[in-house]
Amino acid sequence: MSRNRKPIPGYVKAELKRRQWGLCAKCMFPLGSIYHVHHDVPYSEGGTDNLDNLELVCPNCHMKIHTQRNLENYKSDREKKMVIPPLGF
Ligand SMILES: [Zn+2]
Ligand SMILES: [Zn+2]
Repeated sequence: MSRNRKPIPGYVKAELKRRQWGLCAKCMFPLGSIYHVHHDVPYSEGGTDNLDNLELVCPNCHMKIHTQRNLENYKSDREKKMVIPPLGF
């Protein structure tokens, strides 16, 4: 049985936008009328519609976030254990 996915209420989006100063949470690009609501913990994994689990991102960043996640899921367990040195090291 799957939960019904309710749309995020307008007041929640407005509050998020206020908290983020109207900027994309990832690239700080000013959000216009087109932005996406991203769940930090995916809805399908039990994430909630609480403000703490949501952030507004531009469509570009949203796509990147999910592309990155798919790549991480795709990696083998062996690769996951590899330590990646910090940039510039
Ligand atoms: Zn962005
Ligand atoms: Zn998302």
